[in-house]
Amino acid sequence: MADADSPCLAGARLTIDLGALAYNWRALDDLAGSAECAAAVKGDGYGIGLEQTVETLSAAGCRTFFTAVPQEGLRARAVSPSSRVFVLCGPLPGTGEVYRAGGLIPVLNSKEDVLEWAAYCAEVGLRLPAALHIDTGMNRLGLRLDEARLIAQAREVLQTFDLVLVMSHLACGGDSGNPLNALQRERFLEAAALFPQAARSLANSAGIFLGADYRFDLVRPGIALYGGEARDAGGNPMRTVATASARVLTVRVAEAGETVGYGATQTLTRRSRLALLAAGYADGYPRLAGSESPHGPARAWIAGYEVPLVGRVSMDLIAVDVTDVPEELCERGAWVELFGPHIAIDSVARHAETIGYELLTGLGRRYARRYVNGPGGGDKTL
Ligand SMILES: *Cc1c(COP(=O)(O)O)cnc(C)c1O
Repeated sequence: MADADSPCLAGARLTIDLGALAYNWRALDDLAGSAECAAAVKGDGYGIGLEQTVETLSAAGCRTFFTAVPQEGLRARAVSPSSRVFVLCGPLPGTGEVYRAGGLIPVLNSKEDVLEWAAYCAEVGLRLPAALHIDTGMNRLGLRLDEARLIAQAREVLQTFDLVLVMSHLACGGDSGNPLNALQRERFLEAAALFPQAARSLANSAGIFLGADYRFDLVRPGIALYGGEARDAGGNPMRTVATASARVLTVRVAEAGETVGYGATQTLTRRSRLALLAAGYADGYPRLAGSESPHGPARAWIAGYEVPLVGRVSMDLIAVDVTDVPEELCERGAWVELFGPHIAIDSVARHAETIGYELLTGLGRRYARRYVNGPGGGDKTL
């Protein structure tokens, strides 16, 4: 029987360049100067695979990982038992034992988190490590400054655990001109001074690019590692990690005046050759990137030609206009890049009014995944 996972049976494939991932980490590590360069691997390694990401970055020299939930933390530790693994959501009620046994470090995000972790550490009689998250202007997770002051005075609480890191998160780091950046930095300095024993961390990917003032002792890049745009302006110096391609199922000719796809949202203005690609929103390709995008349809790439999407993106099909591509370069069975080195993932995201982060973490499970240039050498197909 044919193997259902055989890549030749998939309509779309995803190539993950682990060499580019490692390169991006080294580039950020260089930029971070004397600060330690950690890695955010939440969201299943931003959709590209948590295990592969942790393995690759550990081999590149990364020693500290940030995951969102304990479940991801345990997966990271399983791949890299000697690394430090922080869990951003903190100690959900009753999870102390999971953190201790799994060697995970909780990020304490509220007074309640602090008290819960202190109580757990007192109960088991171990000064377990933890990070403290200070909210400096996002009103998401983290203690307010006044709460941080109270905690700093509660010596008997602080003594019960080992505060290894004090951190905060930037709301507008991608916008270097935004005055909130400097304000958050000021507040962070003030809060971190209350906990002089702990290392300090403020910068995500965008924060690293804001300059040395934002890097402190440890930086926590995510999106830039995966090749995405961290800054709203100023270009993207990172290497492409994820490339998605879909196969041409058929090429058809449609006449001027005819419409294409569901809702008949687009009427052809010329006689057109349309290539039908075997991918769609079921693969996580955004439906809004088609003809109804407020920014005009996104583009795909084939053999040196950028080709616009035509009509709506369907569940399993995308139509592109290949009228200007020589016929022999776009035949049935050919592969068309949806995003990758020629079509930036962030450009597709912009057409769909979203961000590269959302496209990456929403990658569908139907792709034939290939991991290339991994640390062990050799390529792997999943
Ligand atoms: C996701 C996240 C990061 C990484 O952010 P990027 O913008 O992807 O670099 C860093 N710190 C925290 C707290 C995060 O939630």
